[in-house]
Amino acid sequence: MNNNSNNITADVVKAFYREYPRLECALEYGGDPFRLLIMAILSAQCTDRQVNAVSEALFKRFPDAASIAESEPGELERYIYSTGFYNTKAKSIRACCKTLTDEFGGAVPSEMSDLLKLGGVGRKVANLIRGDIFGLGGIVADTHMIRISNRLGLVSSRNPVIVEKTLSNLVPIELQSGFCHRAVVFGREICKAKKPKCDKCFIKAKGLCGGV
Ligand code: SF4
Repeated sequence: MNNNSNNITADVVKAFYREYPRLECALEYGGDPFRLLIMAILSAQCTDRQVNAVSEALFKRFPDAASIAESEPGELERYIYSTGFYNTKAKSIRACCKTLTDEFGGAVPSEMSDLLKLGGVGRKVANLIRGDIFGLGGIVADTHMIRISNRLGLVSSRNPVIVEKTLSNLVPIELQSGFCHRAVVFGREICKAKKPKCDKCFIKAKGLCGGV
């Protein structure tokens, strides 16, 4: 990290907020920490749209951690079937909900070390929760963030933990979750993995990236 990285990051963050002024988490969780946690686990290898589509029926039947922890084997699977890898996800979600009820009184914890005790929760989900729910900041080093930060020259590593830690030092805490949500949209629409739209890129137009 150096002053140049700091300056580029500040300009990129500013440009993201200007381009996407009112952008929130694509998962429609209605402000409920438990819902965001479960939806984030379901979003692995699945579109946010599909996770949103199953969520109404899912949370009507399972409004809290206890209802999932106590459910009959196979029932949860039926509700999340269309999100893919449903057996693995159901196993993780059940384990997650059991730990939530046994150790945290059913509430979603805020500490990274506690979040990482929950089934299906890795650093990506934990950072999403810490940033969006608790306002503690958190860089979600997903595939978009890893690609974009490398292309911008802010990081030279594909290791998610290195990307997370490097960007955590460059982006102010209060902007981290907003920055991550914007990076996802930017990565899907413009800085795509294959054939990025460099000719239409507002980051390039500001001289913050030379393109690939
Ligand atoms: S110029 Fe191209 S590579 Fe650079 S950020 Fe924009 S889309 Fe991505």
